[in-house]
Amino acid sequence: MKKRWYDYLWIFTLLYLGLGFFNILFAWVGLLCFLIPLAISLAGGGKAYCNRYCGRGQLLTLLGGRFGLSRGKNPPAFLRSRWFRYSFTAFFFVMFFQMLWTTWLVFSGVQELGQFVKLLWTFRLPWHWAHHGTMLPRWISQFAFGFYSLMLTSTLLGIITMVLYKPRSWCVYCPMGTTTQLICKSKAKSGDLNA
Ligand code: SF4
Repeated sequence: MKKRWYDYLWIFTLLYLGLGFFNILFAWVGLLCFLIPLAISLAGGGKAYCNRYCGRGQLLTLLGGRFGLSRGKNPPAFLRSRWFRYSFTAFFFVMFFQMLWTTWLVFSGVQELGQFVKLLWTFRLPWHWAHHGTMLPRWISQFAFGFYSLMLTSTLLGIITMVLYKPRSWCVYCPMGTTTQLICKSKAKSGDLNA
């Protein structure tokens, strides 16, 4: 099948992770991966982001499929269960808002800039080399460290579940996938009511 430009978005994901290693401010670009899927599903585009434009999903398919890094097993039932997907999504957004709160504390001068990346919401990895003392306010860097932590953590979880199960097993419980699915469902429901 003829390849389209959006079949290469996995390169964007790799670039994103790589550039954040050298300059943390590139982490801001990752907001696109939050906002675009929401905008597409709110505009009635359904799961088009997941089906076509998600670089992370493509990367997992590539690594697990073409490169054979996946065991190819079915993910366990609990991972697919509604309670787990919704709980994980809720947890993910609580962590997101906690990251915004930390950014606020740095903005208001209560807290110092933390030049580290927090992996799996627990482990602090030194990342000071990626901060170059910009002329920008420090909260901008704090947000970047926090957001990059989220992106790296979700990528790591995606890779672990790719290795253990099928390549796209992360998509089963991905918070963005769950959120866009909920948006699609509520739009379909309101469509039914209006019909
Ligand atoms: S479920 Fe998440 S990782 Fe998978 S394609 Fe959708 S947004 Fe990308």
